[in-house]
Amino acid sequence: MAQGPPRRTRLNRPATFPVVGELSVGLSVAELVVVSFDIDGTMEFGDPPGPVPAAVARELVARGYVVGVASDWPRSQQQPLWSRHGIEPRFVGGKHHLHEVKAAFPDATRYIHVGDTDVDEHYAVLAGFEFLRVDDLELPVVAETIDDPVDRA
Ligand SMILES: [Mg+2]
Repeated sequence: MAQGPPRRTRLNRPATFPVVGELSVGLSVAELVVVSFDIDGTMEFGDPPGPVPAAVARELVARGYVVGVASDWPRSQQQPLWSRHGIEPRFVGGKHHLHEVKAAFPDATRYIHVGDTDVDEHYAVLAGFEFLRVDDLELPVVAETIDDPVDRA
């Protein structure tokens, strides 16, 4: 009638409920990062093409980043363009709408705009976004280039 082993196994089972709760709070709130991409001169499918592959944007989406577009293209054309590259942007607008993006995602810890011109920088800084100029990015551009620009520099 030895009853030791089965009982011990049961008691050693981790309490899953509290752990799951902590994790979900930490990931969803603490790590929210908003990334805005210009198109022309920035994305590989822009006109002219830029150094950022669509795969990098898809990777950021997969990592839980809020990825969207702020370019000079008409709103109606931006969404279909990104859809063709497998990305459903969470926001679409002009660069001068970046402050609205920040208001729409008030809980994010970082706001990043990736672009190629002084106009991009102007509106990014005005809206309180970090600005990543594509000419300054190490090539080839990978998700980590956008993910942690402090590390890159
Ligand atoms: Mg551009």
